[in-house]
Amino acid sequence: MKAQATDGGKRLRLLVRGAVQGVGFRPFAYGLARRLALGGFVRNGPEGVLIEVEGAQAEAFAGLLRAEAPPLARIETIERQDLSPKGDRVFTIGATTSGPVRTRIPADTATCDECLDDLFDPSSRFHLYPLVNCTHCGPRFSLTRALPYDRAQTSMAAFPMCARCAADYADPANRRFHAEPIACPDCGPQLSHAIDDIVAALREGKIVAVKGIGGYHLMCDARNDETVARLRARKQRDGKPFAVMVANAASVEAVARPTDLELRAAQSPAHPIVLMQSRRNLPEAVAPGLARIGIMLAYTPLHHLIFHAAQRAFSRSALYDLVLVATSANPGGEPLIGDDAEARERLGGIADLIVSHDREIVTRLDDSVVQTIDGAPAFIRRARGYTPDPIDLGADGPVVLACGGQLKATVTLTRGREAFVSQHVGDLSDMETFRFYRETIDHLTRLLDVAPDAVACDMHPDYLSTRYAEETGLPLVRVQHHVAHVSSIAAEHGVKGPLLGAALDGHGCGADGAAWGGELLRVDGASWERRGALAPLMLIGGDRAAREPWRMALAACAATGRMSRAERFAGPAERTTLARMIKAGKEWPPTSSLGRLFDAAAGLLLPDARQDHEGHAAMRLEALVERPRLLQGGWRLEGGALDFSPLLGFLIDETPEARTGAELFHGTIAAGLADWIAADHAAVPGARIALGGGCMMNRILAEDLSARLREKGLDVLHARAVPANDGGLSLGQAAAARALLATG
Ligand SMILES: [Zn+2]
Ligand SMILES: [Zn+2]
Repeated sequence: MKAQATDGGKRLRLLVRGAVQGVGFRPFAYGLARRLALGGFVRNGPEGVLIEVEGAQAEAFAGLLRAEAPPLARIETIERQDLSPKGDRVFTIGATTSGPVRTRIPADTATCDECLDDLFDPSSRFHLYPLVNCTHCGPRFSLTRALPYDRAQTSMAAFPMCARCAADYADPANRRFHAEPIACPDCGPQLSHAIDDIVAALREGKIVAVKGIGGYHLMCDARNDETVARLRARKQRDGKPFAVMVANAASVEAVARPTDLELRAAQSPAHPIVLMQSRRNLPEAVAPGLARIGIMLAYTPLHHLIFHAAQRAFSRSALYDLVLVATSANPGGEPLIGDDAEARERLGGIADLIVSHDREIVTRLDDSVVQTIDGAPAFIRRARGYTPDPIDLGADGPVVLACGGQLKATVTLTRGREAFVSQHVGDLSDMETFRFYRETIDHLTRLLDVAPDAVACDMHPDYLSTRYAEETGLPLVRVQHHVAHVSSIAAEHGVKGPLLGAALDGHGCGADGAAWGGELLRVDGASWERRGALAPLMLIGGDRAAREPWRMALAACAATGRMSRAERFAGPAERTTLARMIKAGKEWPPTSSLGRLFDAAAGLLLPDARQDHEGHAAMRLEALVERPRLLQGGWRLEGGALDFSPLLGFLIDETPEARTGAELFHGTIAAGLADWIAADHAAVPGARIALGGGCMMNRILAEDLSARLREKGLDVLHARAVPANDGGLSLGQAAAARALLATG
């Protein structure tokens, strides 16, 4: 690895920080140095990539380093220092230096085009090899045990390289130079089944568990009604939609009508699941009652081999597009399965065939899910392909472990000016998920090599994340749920100064212990105030109100003085009894939650509305809307309170058909919220406006509300780097806790 330089001249030391390891940065620096006839070296160090260059073109090198960096590299800073020339005429690639760990692991990346060429090129030694990868693609975080990111620290350490792989790995001119997971049919992991057997099983309508990057998928032919129904029954997956996988961007059209932005999001290096308008030509059981479908493109070589072979096996037509259901293999609400023995044990009753390989998954990661909102992608779930990319907090501070919420839990660990948000963990009330949660904290702490100075958690005393935080014995900062939602947006957008945040959410424990969820908050660093809230509805039956929308429909009748009409929305004995109790004056604690207001509308408009999972009824309501419409006078502004009683009264009195009602409900809620936010903004001029909370998963609401605020000359910030729902709580907690610790 030596290149001759022609000139002495200037010597520069450059320390490059950012996502620069495991992304082909050293061969890039080597190639550039050679092109510019420079001497010196490049090596990975504990703080980033360290480069020394010497020669007449040293300055040009420093300039081109940013401009020509490899596709997956993200340079954050380059620290430079002038040195006296040593007469170095050769450029070398040095070994990794050891020392305290301060570098990064890249996120997992979908198979690149060049590796796809290798995969289907009969003359390539990687021809049809289901685990081909290179410096620009393949698994990273999912197989790394420790830093620095080197093969010895990954689950590929178990596979000694063959001579040819070793030569590619050591050749700076090769695309696989220091591709840590490099492997080939001679030396790498092997697949448990022949591709033709996998495809035959899929064609016969079987359910196949397939090992992927961050865990197993359950896959089956998405066009086969009987098979999809069987998968739903075996997985006991209530009404939650299944995602589907197609071969490539061109195949998306077979099942959806994507926008350009959605297609681009699906093709990004992470290859997330992207919600797109469904053509509704798949069995209803794939995504029951929903107008949009989650689609991802094949992202591992194994996926590509399956689609390629299916083209011939499934159809006599070359135009046939295989569509596969591809849902995480996790029975019930448990975390996804990454371990082979566990897969055999727990998927035996679900999958007819379990396809594995012997590359171990070290860290489990679900597929990430995004939708486009207001002109850009926004996360619904952030995991594979994005974790562990950090979020820049803009300033140094103490190490904070933020423990997140209860549902859709994530944790965040800060180090220096960066916040590392964990992958989506899930609902902590499941025991296995809670174990995964603790594992995730341990792994992240080990990888970042830090010890927390403080922990942050929610104010809800019963969240298992709160209990976890309390048990650490570290200084504890309790951050109000909706303040965390708003702080999360402030953190990712680097907002300094006041922020007027609308936290539009399902449920969060208020500072007064009440159920909040439709809040207007002014947040400024560590200080915040509640400036307004939605007019309260009774939470009839407590937690059960969130699962049975008819209860919130009764609450709407009570709030609008229409109990005489409650029988319409009652029926079964339990409801009639409750209605009688309310008429007699029985009361329940109030909630200001917008999520529960949506449930009330669902209860009024969809008589059969069930709530099999969080936000289910609201999603069905959203799916009915083609164009949000406005009910004039549908709300009242009284001080800081926003009261939608007129809208609810209209829905109760007029009982519009479901679509009309859903359109009026969405449009009127958006318009009322816009008025409310704009009126208060006049009192806090200069504040940026943020829209957060789980209700911002509702695209129709989020876009209509943003548009109405823009019409009033107000610009809004959305959650882009983490989800607006509880998946983003931990980031907000971390930022809020740091602000508080900084003020003493
Ligand atoms: Zn590649
Ligand atoms: Zn090999």
